[in-house]
Amino acid sequence: MSFDYDLFVIGGGSGGVRAGRLAAGTGAKVGLAEEFRMGGTCVIRGCVPKKLMVYASSYAEAFEDAKGYGWSVGETSFNWGKLIAAKDVEIARLEAIYGKNLMAAGADMYLARATVVDAHTVKLSTGETFTTKHILIATGGTPFVPKIEGHEYVITSNEIFHLEEQPKRFLVVGGGYIACEFACIMNGLGSEVTQYYRGEQVLRGFDNEVQGFVAEEMREKGVDLHVGTDVQSIVKTDAGLVVTNTHGKTLVVDQVLYATGRVANTAGLGLENAGVTLGRKGEIVVDGYSQTNIPSIYAVGDVTDRVNLTPVAIVEGAAFVDTVFHGKPTQPDHELIATAVFTQPEIGTVGLGEEAARESEEIEVYRAIFRPMAHILAGKSERMLMKLIVSKTSRKVLGCHIVGHAAGEMIQLAGVALKMGATKEDFDRTMAIHPTAAEELVTMKTPVAS
Ligand SMILES: Cc1cc2nc3c(=O)[nH]c(=O)nc-3n(C[C@H](O)[C@H](O)[C@H](O)COP(=O)(O)OP(=O)(O)OC[C@H]3O[C@@H](n4cnc5c(N)ncnc54)[C@H](O)[C@@H]3O)c2cc1C
Repeated sequence: MSFDYDLFVIGGGSGGVRAGRLAAGTGAKVGLAEEFRMGGTCVIRGCVPKKLMVYASSYAEAFEDAKGYGWSVGETSFNWGKLIAAKDVEIARLEAIYGKNLMAAGADMYLARATVVDAHTVKLSTGETFTTKHILIATGGTPFVPKIEGHEYVITSNEIFHLEEQPKRFLVVGGGYIACEFACIMNGLGSEVTQYYRGEQVLRGFDNEVQGFVAEEMREKGVDLHVGTDVQSIVKTDAGLVVTNTHGKTLVVDQVLYATGRVANTAGLGLENAGVTLGRKGEIVVDGYSQTNIPSIYAVGDVTDRVNLTPVAIVEGAAFVDTVFHGKPTQPDHELIATAVFTQPEIGTVGLGEEAARESEEIEVYRAIFRPMAHILAGKSERMLMKLIVSKTSRKVLGCHIVGHAAGEMIQLAGVALKMGATKEDFDRTMAIHPTAAEELVTMKTPVAS
């Protein structure tokens, strides 16, 4: 049977574009549909614009620190409109590159919504219908907002990047990495930030000490963080949004950002027409090769809700192409993924946290908490945390956790070491780099008493 395409990709984000480009590079006939903007969440309303805002928000502290080093800093002010406009120019540049590279690889790009008609057919919102040997679903995820009273007044990470004015009084609801990052960004940019999280501690799933350390430093920097607290209702008034929390207290703010989780983008995709199995939360169920229960349909990235990060979506997309177009069955490797959280202070982490490691074997914990040299003349009390979790039997470093300046940069290389199976003794025989903060990673000699 002949098809219009060898592969039709639905979604022009991190996973979809990588797969589309690589597949087209093999000479396959590839089509890709994107309903919003090429580049997907990461480029348009995720990692990239967020990191630009993280940079912007770090200047307030840098100006203060500079004084300790002899600088006289004149009057400073921040212009929200200028930041948003500059950020938009950069995002438009990246968006154009994504489209250009896809087409340069030989794929057809459709700026339209696509739905699945059957196991080998997709339909576009333009009315066009294509048959295809394989379909790759790479539609990502979308923010989830619970239906509390007044939910229509809240914004999500989709809208924060386009607010016309900087909210002076800002409430963040949620305790995951996106919630904490935005609380820090807006705090750094000068908004009055309150954060509500219904659980016991923010950043669930991270090493407990890291969670507590970051929460403490966020408070120290001015975020009014309340755990064990949720929103009951939001009422719009002339004075602002009146938020009543679960303890009966009210707060008046200009904007409420909900970052309370994301759901897979599978609604209305027509997957039921092909009989694709979905999981409990609407995510597409796939095997190790990203194949669904329907042999011609694969899915990669956030829509599968495995590990929802850009590099993971990209690797899954590439592994799919190896499997289907190079005849080299390849499973993406989800073990020991190093990640960064761009809170202030920043987190870099790879491997197991202390609690998770303790559940599976006997461990040693090495810890350093110190005031980095850069903070001394700056007159800052902020400390840095480094932690290694080591297996008592194999001596392998099972987890490495860093909180502080450039933690995200450092953890990439610690990730290589852990991936290679480095032991504590490998860390010990690595010469330190002096004077750096990172040298603490190779100079922790004595385990803490357990
Ligand atoms: C605020 C925020 C910050 C983040 N920060 C980081 C970070 O620092 N580091 C990191 O690694 N990850 C980060 N992420 C996660 C990262 O953005 C995602 O993991 C990544 O974008 C997933 O890629 P994907 O290809 O699966 O989906 P996406 O990038 O979401 O792309 C899916 C695309 O499909 C399109 N689409 C959906 N349905 C259809 C349809 N029916 N027809 C046509 N097109 C459709 C969408 O418009 C979208 O463009 C962040 C996410 C958010 C929201």
